[in-house]
Amino acid sequence: QITRQLILPYDTMLEQRYLRRLSIISELKRALVEDDDQLSVAYQPKLNLKQGRITGVEALLRWNNPALGFVSPDDFISVAEQAGFIGQVTDWVINRVVKDIQGFTAAGISLNVAINLSAQDVLNQQLLPGVLSLLDRHGVSKDALSFEITESDLVKDPKAAIVHLQAIRDAGFSLAIDDFGTGYSSMAYLKNLPVNTLKVDKSFVLNLDSEPGDQNIVQTVIELAHTFDMSVVAEGIENQPSLQLLADWGCEWAQGYFICKPIPAQQLIDWYAQHQHT
Ligand code: C2E
Ligand code: CA
Ligand code: CA
Ligand code: CA
Repeated sequence: QITRQLILPYDTMLEQRYLRRLSIISELKRALVEDDDQLSVAYQPKLNLKQGRITGVEALLRWNNPALGFVSPDDFISVAEQAGFIGQVTDWVINRVVKDIQGFTAAGISLNVAINLSAQDVLNQQLLPGVLSLLDRHGVSKDALSFEITESDLVKDPKAAIVHLQAIRDAGFSLAIDDFGTGYSSMAYLKNLPVNTLKVDKSFVLNLDSEPGDQNIVQTVIELAHTFDMSVVAEGIENQPSLQLLADWGCEWAQGYFICKPIPAQQLIDWYAQHQHT
């Protein structure tokens, strides 16, 4: 009796996780093709600390499925990567972002939108020409888009990644290393990376006001970035004291719930009108 109770629930859990994974794959593929309002993009403002203004946002994908409910991107992005269709997801995001940028422009708002790329996207030869022709067709300037790539993704195949990142930079796009501090990149590697921004991982920022260890790390990352002529975005700012520390240390950008949560495009337009005094 006891043994059954110990083993059965575990088996059932594994099976449920496996089934959930399968439904994520099939449901997400369907949502991408049918585009029936399950997927959307939320935008989180980035505060330019030198200018005291919002000049950029990060695009974050959202998925609400009738059967699965709200699924976190931390869950479905890795599934799409492993199942080999992250390229389709990225295409969907870029298309939606370019449409939303037209909406921002129509509302008189000029913002840079940062899109998250996966390792497979960076290595995809079609990505850059696709983006350039999309921007061209919609009359959207290249300044309106930038890209973020996580540090751990870069470290997997640095040589190949560098060639593709260089092409993205040469085309005129700004590039940030995301989740910096979690992927063990070396100084020598950093020196050769064609990126212009480091994004400090939020694990070092969430408790910045109360953790001296995190304060040391973040200050060091800011100095390191400046040594390499890169600017710094700190994400995960949840309180005023943390924001003040970052401003004092010369960090260029701040992003976090304390400033604004990720919100839909229309809400961003309203939020911007209320907060931007230029
Ligand atoms: P990320 O790129 O590191 O994005 C930052 C995450 O931190 C977002 O979670 C954001 O909502 C959250 N965040 C922002 N400010 C705060 C804060 O003050 N406190 C806390 N606790 N969290 C904060 P989200 O939207 O759930 O996205 C999770 C991850 O999913 C992203 O991490 C990114 O790696 C991935 N992701 C999201 N959208 C896309 C996409 O379109 N493409 C790809 N490849 N990945 C995406
Ligand atoms: Ca990001
Ligand atoms: Ca991040
Ligand atoms: Ca992340």
